[in-house]
Amino acid sequence: DEQLLNVNDLVTSFRTAAGKVSAVRGVSFSVNKGETLCIVGESGCGKSITTLSVMGLLPANGEITSGSIQYKGEELTTKKSEQMRRLRGNEISMIFQEPMTALNPVFTIGYQIIEPLKLHLRLNKKEARSRAVELLAQVGISNPDKRLKQYPHELSGGMRQRVMIAMALACNPSLLIADEPTTALDVTIQAQILDLIDSLKEELGMGVIMVTHDMGVVAEVADRVMVMYAGDVVETGTVEEIFSSPEHPYTQGLLASVPNVDDADAKLQAIPGSLPNLNEKITGCRFHPRCPYAMEQCSQEDPPQFKISSQHLSKCWLQQEVKVNDAKGRAYS
Ligand code: SF4
Ligand code: MG
Repeated sequence: DEQLLNVNDLVTSFRTAAGKVSAVRGVSFSVNKGETLCIVGESGCGKSITTLSVMGLLPANGEITSGSIQYKGEELTTKKSEQMRRLRGNEISMIFQEPMTALNPVFTIGYQIIEPLKLHLRLNKKEARSRAVELLAQVGISNPDKRLKQYPHELSGGMRQRVMIAMALACNPSLLIADEPTTALDVTIQAQILDLIDSLKEELGMGVIMVTHDMGVVAEVADRVMVMYAGDVVETGTVEEIFSSPEHPYTQGLLASVPNVDDADAKLQAIPGSLPNLNEKITGCRFHPRCPYAMEQCSQEDPPQFKISSQHLSKCWLQQEVKVNDAKGRAYS
């Protein structure tokens, strides 16, 4: 598998009134060509900040404090903003949750797709228009000629998200980052958009990073999963590993579903307590105030990543006991 992105020990901090706080605390992961990595966790866990760090789109008070982000072997953390802008136009694309805010209400869909094509790909008007028609068809929009003349408010939410995906694909990106792309959509449309992203990934061989708080979305599209909590990666694994043998108590909490609740945020609230504030000082495991398995050690020492399989890691002291038991030949017997 060809590696596209390799993030190593990324720390991203913000200057706040309360001082400097870390929103991402030493995150490592990679994304290969043709695979979808889902980053999952509650809002505020650092998943969006992780992807904004990769894109070079951190807010003004944010900065990458340490660590490395390599894209196709090139270090991104030292690139100038102009170089990052070029990369975002040509190599890495991003789609967001609410397409209405990303589309300009006063311009037609056609104008908004065609202008960047002229600018970034240096196509003339006719070429750009036919590429726009092709892109809309590619994302399953019928009657693209008619759609190009319409304004964002004339389209449904699902249709607007398709337009955003078409725009994201305009420059043939190798890496697509989708941050909660279906959260604002109803369930049926959500499934269609996820299918679309999945089939485009196959068709175009893109790497995809999907940011979500919804384990249903993860089950639908992920090849690999990275679970974040309070700025830490707490568990990583293949989608099979995460769903069939979740090891971290937080992941187990995410998966414990509340019957008859469609709202994923409500499901997350099934875990008592809430995310700590960024500037809250917590010693030991950052999940320990909410963890049903917390032991003495948990409030004192921050656990390392324990390796369960070649892909499966859990940042939890419970794994230490499993390992000790393994060594004694007692576990899983
Ligand atoms: Fe719970 Fe301790 Fe594991 Fe943290 S290290 S998740 S507190 S058992
Ligand atoms: Mg977010």
